[in-house]
Amino acid sequence: MKILKNYSLSKLNTFGIRAFARFFAEVENEEELKELFVDPVFKENKKFFLGGGSNVLFTKDFDGIVILNKIKGIKILEEDDKTAVIRSMSGVIWHDLVTFATERGYWGLENLSLIPGTVGAAPMQNIGAYGAELREVLQSVEAFNIATGIKRIFSREECELGYRDSIFKNKLKNQYFISAITLKLNKIEKKNLTYKILSDYLDKNKINVRSPKDISDAVSSIRKSKLPDPRLIGNAGSFFKNVFVTKDKFEDLVKIYPDMPHFKEDEEVKIPAGWLIERCGWKGKRVGNAGVHEKQALVLVNHGGATGEEIVELANKIIASVKEKFGLKLVPEVNIV
Ligand SMILES: Cc1cc2nc3c(=O)[nH]c(=O)nc-3n(C[C@H](O)[C@H](O)[C@H](O)COP(=O)(O)OP(=O)(O)OC[C@H]3O[C@@H](n4cnc5c(N)ncnc54)[C@H](O)[C@@H]3O)c2cc1C
Repeated sequence: MKILKNYSLSKLNTFGIRAFARFFAEVENEEELKELFVDPVFKENKKFFLGGGSNVLFTKDFDGIVILNKIKGIKILEEDDKTAVIRSMSGVIWHDLVTFATERGYWGLENLSLIPGTVGAAPMQNIGAYGAELREVLQSVEAFNIATGIKRIFSREECELGYRDSIFKNKLKNQYFISAITLKLNKIEKKNLTYKILSDYLDKNKINVRSPKDISDAVSSIRKSKLPDPRLIGNAGSFFKNVFVTKDKFEDLVKIYPDMPHFKEDEEVKIPAGWLIERCGWKGKRVGNAGVHEKQALVLVNHGGATGEEIVELANKIIASVKEKFGLKLVPEVNIV
């Protein structure tokens, strides 16, 4: 494990933002991680753990050490007729883990196909897509306390997973490095077709779902047709979280905006942030080198050469106009550094 100086992060974030790390290291196994924990450069500097860089926006050079996670390996821990328990190291590419599971006929990850990034970042924001969330299958998270180097196992409950949220993004922010996760998957058919876009796609294409791979393939095709590819245009997926309001607040809003899309979730109502942004006239708008994607208003893009600050300025303008028009507060999903 070598510590490099003044390292470019441009190719390590899907926004394609130009930024440098004062120090930089790659870790390939837990031994290297332990070596790093006792290194004076690590101990004396600010730290940032990086996976695929698909949920991060660098607004300036990082005046500390960036550690790129390359710790690989997936193992089946237990298996019976009904379930399989698998452990994945955190540097595994998320979709490789999905493929590992779906190829073996294990149900539970197929709706989360093709989400960019690494396994270790998945519990950070309880990744979700197409009607599913990581928390439905997560059993535990192994994480090292960055200050002491001691490993702790968090049960699913202890991770405090919520909508695009976890204890690692809140109370324990910047305190733990996630080294592995354990998932409990189903071997007996358990399809989740609650998400209308997915069920419509399956109907339209006359796909009779027989395996988790059938769903994984469908989700992958839908995603490819809808989401901008960061290799072609810099972005970090949804820039903002969807908005949750009380039923009373929603009743007030829907009187003014009868076509407001919404999803009832327990005591609250979810309003798609993309719709709010679009109704404020931002879809396809460009401010300097930063912009709002022409098909997905929730996705901010780097048209080329944008700085992180330019993207943040655009985000702030969008937040202000949504606040002014609807009285609702948009919160970024992306980690702004
Ligand atoms: C085109 C596109 C589509 C997307 N679609 C979705 C989607 O459908 N659903 C969804 O939930 N997300 C989506 N995302 C967001 C992103 O892919 C996920 O949040 C993903 O989990 C980020 O993984 P990463 O490895 O790239 O994390 P990074 O961007 O590298 O890191 C994100 C945060 O996690 C921290 N972190 C990373 N690894 C560790 C670790 N091992 N231990 C501790 N902290 C760590 C980082 O410090 C940072 O704060 C999308 C992004 C893009 C570009």
